[in-house]
Amino acid sequence: MDKMLWEPKRRIEAAFRKNLLNIAREIIKQVGNITDTDVITEILRQISKSREFEKFSESAAMKMVTHLFDDQGHTWRQATAANGKGGSFYAALQAELRGYTGRLLMDQVKRNAEIIKTLPLDISIDVTTYISQETAKGRRASEIAKEIKLKFPEQTKARAKLIARTEVSKTQSQLTESRCRMFNINWYVWRPVGGSKGDGRTRKSHRGMADVLVAWDDAPAPEDLFPQVSKITGKRYRNSLGHYHAGCCPNCRCYAEPVIDLDLFTWPMQAYRNGSIQRINRKAFEKII
Ligand SMILES: [Zn+2]
Repeated sequence: MDKMLWEPKRRIEAAFRKNLLNIAREIIKQVGNITDTDVITEILRQISKSREFEKFSESAAMKMVTHLFDDQGHTWRQATAANGKGGSFYAALQAELRGYTGRLLMDQVKRNAEIIKTLPLDISIDVTTYISQETAKGRRASEIAKEIKLKFPEQTKARAKLIARTEVSKTQSQLTESRCRMFNINWYVWRPVGGSKGDGRTRKSHRGMADVLVAWDDAPAPEDLFPQVSKITGKRYRNSLGHYHAGCCPNCRCYAEPVIDLDLFTWPMQAYRNGSIQRINRKAFEKII
């Protein structure tokens, strides 16, 4: 089976990011040439509360979530067809939308819409901080207004990128988890994008988690398993991320590959159990699943 099968599609992330940028661009347009920070804050506050913006956010979130859902449905069918369970899985997939997964999808849409709704407020903070700083330097209001239009798309771009990357991975991981639970698949393999060693941008702790078996009921704390030591103080960085599954922390592009067929893996594997990563052979793993 194709290893990349479970990797979230970049085009879904790209489409979501584009959507967020369009929303942000519209928001910045509303500010126009105003440089009175109180007025700007008020305008953006009104936008964030408007019914129209709420609809906008929900539709962008809905598009992303259903896009992932459809794409994953395809992946599950491919993966399960390979081990002869295609028919029953397909029927189950049809049924799931009417039940638990339908609700989970709506939860994901709501969660993502809430995140999009923070955009006007974020932009408002960025814009008003910038105006205050520049005004304190004695710069002219008209100059500052011009700059905001040029400069702000950059910061907003960065924010949209972070939201798109983080939320697409997280939503994907949660969809995978819910489907796994439906089929009683309790384990997955943690995969970084770009293979076992990552793609050069994968953080050290997630490279450490590469190809490790993880149980859905027992999320690891990668920063505790692979601590980063400060070059200056020689001390370990505090782990502020806690326990989480593949794809479920900011900027993470890792994903979960469900353990559907043990033949597809090369044994022995590494497994996360009882707070540490241990080597496990196929026989021992069969006993615990
Ligand atoms: Zn990662």
